[in-house]
Amino acid sequence: MLSKVYFSGMAYAAYDANQTLPRKLGRQLEKGGLGDRVKDKTVAIKIHVGSEIGYSTIPPVFMRILAAFVKEHGGNCFFTDHYIASRRPEHRGYTQESLGAPVLEAAGYLGKYLYTKDVDFKGFKHVDIAGHIHDADFLIDFSHVKGHGCCAYGGAVKNISMGCVSDRTRREQHGLEGGLKWDAAKCVHCNACVEACNHLANSFNDKNEYEVNFHNCTLCQHCLKVCPTGAITLTDASYLDFQKGLALCTKTVLDCFEPENRFFINLLINITAMCDCWGMTTPSLVPDIGLMSSWDLTAIETASLDQIKWEKLNPEGVPSGITMGNKGHLFERLHGKDPYTQIGYLEEYNLGSKEYEFEKVD
Ligand code: SF4
Ligand code: SF4
Repeated sequence: MLSKVYFSGMAYAAYDANQTLPRKLGRQLEKGGLGDRVKDKTVAIKIHVGSEIGYSTIPPVFMRILAAFVKEHGGNCFFTDHYIASRRPEHRGYTQESLGAPVLEAAGYLGKYLYTKDVDFKGFKHVDIAGHIHDADFLIDFSHVKGHGCCAYGGAVKNISMGCVSDRTRREQHGLEGGLKWDAAKCVHCNACVEACNHLANSFNDKNEYEVNFHNCTLCQHCLKVCPTGAITLTDASYLDFQKGLALCTKTVLDCFEPENRFFINLLINITAMCDCWGMTTPSLVPDIGLMSSWDLTAIETASLDQIKWEKLNPEGVPSGITMGNKGHLFERLHGKDPYTQIGYLEEYNLGSKEYEFEKVD
C-alpha cells in the first residue's frame, strides 16, 4: 500500500486568500486527521527559528494556523528549537503573541534538560534528546525544505536529528563526516589543492596542516587530482556515514512517540542552497512548490525531493563560481552528495516507505 502525502501546490485561480497556501494548510490538517489525534495531548511543534538576517524560515502565519488548529482540537502546543535565546526568534516574528503558543528552548533554559539514549554507529554513541520534546505526548515536525552542505538536503530528518538533541549529539553526528585524508610527509605545500577547490572547502591552518570543511566539500576530488605527490587520498568514511547517522538519530528521537503521535509537515517555498542556520537567505533554487504533510516520514521526504527538479533550476540560486555536477538530483549536482541515500537509511530503520501517493488538497 502506498503512503499518503497530502500536497497543496502554489497554483491559484483567482485573487482569493482562500486559494493561497496558509488556507491550504488548514484544509490539509483537516484532511489528514490530525485533529482527532491531538486531543488532550501536549504537542511539541519542532521548527527551525533561523538566525541573523535570514528571512526564509517558516512565515509566522503558517505557525499561527497550526497552533490554532491544535488548540481548537483540544491539544496544548508549544513551538520549540535549540539555541532559542541566542538566535532571537522574535526578529523573525516568532513570539507567543504572533504564533498563539510559546516558543520554548527544547532542552530547557540552560540547555541541560536532556534524556540520553545509547546508540552504536562508529563514533556516534549518544543521542541526548531535548527534555521538553521527549516529555511531549505528540511531535509535529514542521520543516522548511532547503539544501544542506553536509547531507545535500535539509528537510524533516535534518530538523529532527540536528534540532531535537544536544551539542554533543550534533558533534558526534558531524564526526561521521569525512572522505579525504592528507599525508603531511608527502605534501610539498604547492597550494595547488586549495587553488583547485571552487567550494572554498580546504585550507592550510596556522600549523600548515591541510584541513577540509566537509560542510562545503562536495567530494569532487579536484584537490586530490591536482596534487602532484599523491598527498591527498580518499578514505572509507564519507557523507554516507553522516546520512546514516542522521537517520539513526531521527529514529531514536521518534521512538519517544507512538507512530500515531508523529506528524510531518514540509513547507517547500524559498528553497535555498543552504540551511537556515546560516542566518541568511539566498535566491531560491527553484520556483516555490507548495506544502506537504504526512504521517509517514520517509514518504514526505521522498516526495519533497522528487518535486525539486533540476530542470527548474534558477541559476541565481547558485553562487557564481560554483561548478555544478552533471548527474543526479539538483542537490547532488550542487552539494556533491546524493540526497536519496538518506531515504534508503530511513527505510532501513523502519521509518516509513518511499512508495507514496499524493492526495491533492486545494
Ligand atoms: S574534494 Fe572538491 S570540494 Fe572537497 S576539498 Fe577537494 S576540491 Fe574542494
Ligand atoms: S596539492 Fe598536494 S602537495 Fe600541493 S599543497 Fe596540496 S596536498 Fe600538498
